[in-house]
Amino acid sequence: METEGSMESNSKIHLDGFKKGQVLNSEFVFRDIRFLDDLEVERKSVFLRLDLNIPIKRTLKNEVDDSLISKNDRLQKSLPTLRYLLERKAKVVIGAHLGRPKTKEDKERLSLEPIARNLRECLNLEEVLLTESPLSSASKVLLSGLKSPGQVLMLENLRWDISEEQNLSSLALILSECVDIYINDAFGASHRKHASLCNLPRSFQRRGMGFLMKKEIEVLNKISKSQDSFALILGGNKVRDKIGVIRSLVEKKRDFLLLVGGAMAYTFLLANGASVDPVNVEREKLEEARDLLYHLRRQGRVLLPLDHRILPIGESGPLRLTEGPEIEEGWRGVDIGPKTIKLYRDSLQDRKVMFWNGPMGIFEKEGCEEGTFQMLDVLSKSDAFTVIGGGDSAVAAQKRECGEKMDHISTGGGASLEYLKAASLPGIEALRG
Ligand code: ADP
Ligand code: MG
Repeated sequence: METEGSMESNSKIHLDGFKKGQVLNSEFVFRDIRFLDDLEVERKSVFLRLDLNIPIKRTLKNEVDDSLISKNDRLQKSLPTLRYLLERKAKVVIGAHLGRPKTKEDKERLSLEPIARNLRECLNLEEVLLTESPLSSASKVLLSGLKSPGQVLMLENLRWDISEEQNLSSLALILSECVDIYINDAFGASHRKHASLCNLPRSFQRRGMGFLMKKEIEVLNKISKSQDSFALILGGNKVRDKIGVIRSLVEKKRDFLLLVGGAMAYTFLLANGASVDPVNVEREKLEEARDLLYHLRRQGRVLLPLDHRILPIGESGPLRLTEGPEIEEGWRGVDIGPKTIKLYRDSLQDRKVMFWNGPMGIFEKEGCEEGTFQMLDVLSKSDAFTVIGGGDSAVAAQKRECGEKMDHISTGGGASLEYLKAASLPGIEALRG
């Protein structure tokens, strides 16, 4: 929607201030980086950082639902790198994180034990050893005892130790003594400046990038380099995570069309002058949204929802449709409405490249999935180069059973947006040299 809101002209974006050299050209992102198959890994001990941050669902009897873990994209797409190492009889030490453990209870709930168990099954191994904690002296003994070729040891959730998120050298001190090679294949975590991704690789002369990470970057490079008409479809619920990529595309003067849905649309609608329910508005991002809209609307590059599916606040029914973009008090938007779906569908017809991150509504909830599913259908049927990024978006594609119709489903939402924005990630930079 392009309603006439009260747009301020005191823009904070400096369209002409964008210097070419500020952002790495996508061709150069692999400069001075070695890949797994450039390194001699035969019978060596290798630390492999993976993104195995997979939602663990439990039954009423508190049993872990293993099938959801073994079928998870992140786990499945990590297997080629692992198999490559095991075929070459490397001794593998896996480092990974799970969730955001803060309390003691979180820690127990967020153990990597179910992940290690499912990896063992998928790789058909006799065992995948799991350390009791990521960094204890017992882990050190286990590590130095890694003898037999093809052995796999997994460190417990790296985020159990504060050194991980603080990017400290504790892990490097332990691992550099007993490991020969560092490999990062954790694309979905590589936008974080954390120890296993940034501090640790710098302690290894022999360091490189795994197969999954390389593939993810190549796909995103294709999007960045493409001269074809590009659509960026953003939804979901964190404006603060998504606004940076919009700003960067505006600053780069990229020719693109932005479609906004999901909870984040309400911040943009309010910034555009529409009165909407405050439940989903990120007030601290209003000003930035207003500023971006000012540029995007002048260039005809943005569409916002024309109508919504709404629910009374605090209740689960009944669902109603609004006439226009406004949402009356006491109600909250839970999905885009049919007028918006039609507008978005029509606007995507001539697009040759599409990147989508974040569902159009609360698709997990019955009656609120239409917008997300209809948009997924548009992407499925399109001849465009289609890429989906983000954990929840991937789940939506799985639910609609259309994942295989996309050109690529990225294992990283935040990481792919950050990569589209900056043409690199902290975890890539740490591999250079
Ligand atoms: P992704 O994991 O694909 O990057 P996000 O994590 O940003 O996506 O957002 C996904 C979540 O956003 C989903 O759980 C979905 O229910 C929620 N969401 C989408 N639209 C709305 C809305 N209108 N109101 C509240 N939550 C929403
Ligand atoms: Mg998510």
